This record gives sequence, C-alpha cells and structure tokens, in this order.
Amino acid sequence: MGSSVRKGRAVLPAEQAARPSREQPHRAATEDYHHEAQNANNGQAITACCKNKDKDLQFKIQAYIDKNTVMIFSNTACSLSAKVKELFKSMSIPYCSLELDQTEDGQKLQDVLYELTMETSVPIVFVQQKQIGDYDKTLKAHKEGKIQKLLETKGHDHMQDSYDYDLIVIGGGSGGLAASKEAAKYGKKVMVLDYVTPTPQGTRWVKHSWETMTEAVQNYIGSLNWGYRVSLREKKVTYENAFGEFVGPHTIKATNNKGKEKFYTAEKFLIATGERPRYLGVPGDKEYCITSDDLFSLPYCPGKTLVVGASYVALECAGFLAGLGLDVTVMVRSILLRGFDQEMANKIGEHMEEHGVKFVKEFVPIKVEQIEEGTPGKLKVIAQSTDGREIIEGEYNTVLVAVGRDACTRTIGLDRVGVKINERSGKIPVSDEEQTNVPYIYAIGDVLEGKLELTPVAIQAGRLLAQRLYAGATLKCDYVNVPTTVFTPLEYGACGFSEETALEKFGEENIEVYHSYFWPLEWTVPSRDNNKCYAKIICNIQDNERVIGFHVLGPNAGEVTQGFSAAIKCGLTKAQLDNTIGIHPVCAEIFTTLSVTKRSGGNILQSGC
Ligand code: NAP
Repeated sequence: MGSSVRKGRAVLPAEQAARPSREQPHRAATEDYHHEAQNANNGQAITACCKNKDKDLQFKIQAYIDKNTVMIFSNTACSLSAKVKELFKSMSIPYCSLELDQTEDGQKLQDVLYELTMETSVPIVFVQQKQIGDYDKTLKAHKEGKIQKLLETKGHDHMQDSYDYDLIVIGGGSGGLAASKEAAKYGKKVMVLDYVTPTPQGTRWVKHSWETMTEAVQNYIGSLNWGYRVSLREKKVTYENAFGEFVGPHTIKATNNKGKEKFYTAEKFLIATGERPRYLGVPGDKEYCITSDDLFSLPYCPGKTLVVGASYVALECAGFLAGLGLDVTVMVRSILLRGFDQEMANKIGEHMEEHGVKFVKEFVPIKVEQIEEGTPGKLKVIAQSTDGREIIEGEYNTVLVAVGRDACTRTIGLDRVGVKINERSGKIPVSDEEQTNVPYIYAIGDVLEGKLELTPVAIQAGRLLAQRLYAGATLKCDYVNVPTTVFTPLEYGACGFSEETALEKFGEENIEVYHSYFWPLEWTVPSRDNNKCYAKIICNIQDNERVIGFHVLGPNAGEVTQGFSAAIKCGLTKAQLDNTIGIHPVCAEIFTTLSVTKRSGGNILQSGC
C-alpha cells in the first residue's frame, strides 16, 4: 500500500497530502451548501507524478478528506448512504459526497477506501478529517454530540478562511450595535441581523403617532434608527433587516419580512436579541392589553389606565401617564421595585400616591374583557387577591401590562447548535467573558442569566467583548456597582447594595447607614414636597467605611448618581466624601455633609436651605 493506516485517520505521505488538487470539491457557501462531488478524477498533475496506481487512488481519497469538513463516500443505490446525507442535511451541516458507483475507478477507489478505513461498506463518513465510519457509527456519533464537537473545536482553523463573516451579531439593539461597530473597527467583516417581531397589537415602533407628544417621540426614535444605520454603513458593517436563526454549526438562516431566506456562515456569533414584554397569560390579555412597547405608538390618548406590575417599567409608565393628568391605577402583586432598596421603593410609592396615582396591592388580574370598542374603548378587569380570598372588578380605558420581559432566545435555533439556556427563564448562562457553552457563540445584554437588564451594560459588554476578540484586550465587563436610575416622578438613583442586602451580607454590626432628607432649592419657594427627597449611603465598617451602597431620591437623581458611581468604582470611603467640598446649593451637596447615622436615630428632617 505505501501508506500507513491509522485508526480513525487515513494518512498519506505528507508531501502528497499537502499538494493541492485542481478539481477539488469545495465547501459551498451560503444557500447551496450540500455539495455532490462531480468527478473523482482529481487532476492530471497528481496522477502523472504517481507511479503506483493505488497511491494515486489513495491520494485522491485523502484529498477529498482533507478538503472537506464533512466528506461522505457513498453510493447512489445505497439507502444508508441516502440516510446519512439526510442526517447531515437535517443538521444543516454542509458536506461533500462522492458517489463511488458514478465515478471512474469507483470500484478501485472503494477497495482502497475499505483498506484504508477498515470499513466494509459505504457510506464512509469523515468529519474534520477524522474517520467516523459507516451509517450506524455516524448516527451514534451524532447522538453523542461528537460530530458537533468535532465541528466546533477542530473545525476552527480549517474553516476560518471560508466563512462569510468573522462575526454575525443577532440583534440590532444597543449592545449588538456597539459590539458590531467595535469589531468592524478592528478590520473584521461583521454583519448585524435585526428584526422586530410586531407586538400582538401590531406595533413595530415607527409608524403610528399619538398626538403631538407621541409624534415627537416617534420622530426621535426614527432619527435614532436612521443614525444607527448610517453609523453602521460608515463602519462597513453589513445590516440586514432579517430574522436570524441558527440552522447548524457556524451557519445561520436570515429570513426577511417577505419570507426570503438566505444562509450565512461566520467564525463567531454574538447573541444580542434582548427581551420582549411578557404577558399575564390570562384571558383577554393579548387581545386587549398593551405593553410599554405599544404605549408610544398608541394613536389615541390611553385615558383611564390600569398598569399591572410594580417594577421599573410599570412605575415609570404610571408616573409619566399620571404626569399627563390621566387617572392611573397600579396593580401590585407583592412589593414595589423588587431587588431595589425597599425603603427607597416605598418612598417612591408614597410620593406617587400623594400625586394622585392609586395603588391596588396584592392583587393580580385574572381576566380582561372588552366592554366597549373605541379609541380608547372600555375594558373590565377582574382581579383576585394574592391570598385567593377576594375578587374585585374595575373599568379602565387601557390596561398596560408591565410584568417583566422574556428573553428572545427560544426561536433562534440555539438548540440546534447546542447553546444551553435556562429552560425556565430562557436566559443564557455565560462565562465572565460572555462566552456561552458553545465556544464560538457569545451573548450580551438582557438575554444573559443573572446579569443586569440595562442598556448601558449591554453596550459596555459588547464593546469590551469585541476588543477582547479582535484587539488583544483583556478587560472584562464589570457587572458590580453598576449605577441605575428609576425615572419615576421623583427620580431614584442607586449604585451598589440595597440596605437590606448589605445587612444580610455583612451583618448589622458591620454596616453604618448615613442618611438625610434634603429640600431642593427650587422647591423651597413654592413650598413643594418638603422632606420627600432623601439621600442614603451604606458603609462597610470593616473596610474603612467604604461606601458599598448609594441611594438618592430627588430631582436629577440619575445625574447625581452617575458622578458618584465613578467615585464608588474608585473605592470611595465616607471620610473621602466628608473631605469633598460641596457645591451650594445643588442636591448632590447633601452627600458631602451626611452626618446622621440610622443607628443613632438622629433627626434628619430639613426645615429649609
Ligand atoms: P421586572 O423588573 O422583571 O419586574 C416585573 C414586575 O412585574 C414585578 O413587579 C413583578 O412582581 C410583576 N409581575 C410579574 N408577574 C406578574 C403577574 N403575573 N401579575 C402581576 N404582577 C406580576 O420587569 P420590568 O419592570 O419590565 O423591567 C425589566 C428590566 O428592564 C428591569 O430589570 C430593568 O433592569 C430594566 N429597565 C430599566 C429601566 C431603567 O434603567 N430606567 C427602565 C425600565 C426597565 P413581583 O415583585 O411580585 O414578582
């Protein structure tokens, strides 16, 4: 034979195997990726230099194996050959097949092949140049995930040159756009697939308007979208308004809104598909209720509104609608702003209540019925107390459901490429480098398990990821001490631990809480809301009174929090705050003069400026 036969790998003399062939079947790109080899006669140059006929045939076989990620030696009349090809097709894995019965020297090739592989019948399958074997062995390897693994790991270098893109980002939100532009900056070929599935109310965000305000909002959103597209074009990132779905390793199907499908390959992928509002799952919710995605596209003023839910979105929408003078009720299942400092959350609720927002606590809707059609129409909401003892009814023009959001991960073919998700939440667990369990697939933003659902976090994670992947950087996204703001009528800014979490984590004896009310100067003359604005810091006594929690309730709380969060990132201590000279008379000044601890029970009420 002249060549050695090793288990699992047909090996030819290196100098021969490395020689290029002229008519090699090549891995196909995009749509036509199942390739049947036309002719096994592999080029005269090779044949001419091989004296030994067997060697020539071996070389031919080896060249097929070397050049193709998946190589199937088969026979057109063999049902198992057909089945094995079907198997790869079903996984959307491109392959090359050589029909030995249709090939010149087919029988001789088959004999040499049997000798090389010790397989006694076709089909004979190779994946990443590794011998898998006949149909049964291939099926077994597939069931055990071995084929997938071979394609993921060993395939990397071999396939690199032939991908359509270096990176395909699925999802054109803030995180995805940031990552794509950053990757393009480093000369990478990048594509963004972006698609908005309309809400049950048919909203796609940009078309409708609701009086002057909603028209202005829509115009602004339109200008943002335009700006995003322009900046992608400037950075040479390919943008496609199409729904992305994995169909096989390194391969994605993009379906546009006319149903036209295209296939693309990439070396790496980034999932940045975000979340969409969740519904209640009770009769009438999808038919008659709206979500925050619909609010600014409503072609009419919502009128008397019930907001269901008690977190960011619910309280922000309720506050804004009440601010427009509407009759607003919030239906709360348990507590306000779960996960936030509860003292602050309750102060927000009290302030909203004092300004006309009604709260129905410990109730959930069980049915929504339409009483009257119209713009707005009239809806009846039947709700049950959380202890199940009481049923109440109420009539509203609009019901806005804000009960959280679901990660958009269940329809993008993650199961086909083996990306694990948390089955309950749909969220994707990732390493501290935002890598999923499938090494070439990354994820950022709201789809991540156990991470903050905040736009700037996704942007930061996307940029840093692109820099690590393509610019040799090592900095990871720091998910600790992320500042955030709830834009309720009385704004709430926070960074670090809530008081209850700090007490639980460090113990009451190790925590010092400094706090005070403050009265913004501009509120003093109209005698507005005295002792409503509130500042609190939480310090770790065991660590030099380092500030581990920062909370402020008042005008421009977001502005205030942003600056202090940088100081907290630098390790701010109470002594450093005390040593900081305040700016009089701004709201943030209060943090430079905090002197009353909660433990002391001292008076924190303000009588004036
Ligand atoms: P969320 O934080 O997940 O809160 C869901 C709310 O809905 C909770 O109050 C929850 O009550 C309630 N709820 C859930 N299921 C319910 C049901 N079946 N019936 C009645 N109430 C129900 O959701 P979100 O407000 O939509 O916010 C999602 C994320 O977006 C947030 O985590 C936030 O990070 C981000 N966000 C940020 C901003 C900002 O930065 N300003 C603004 C908006 C959103 P329980 O407490 O009883 O579970």
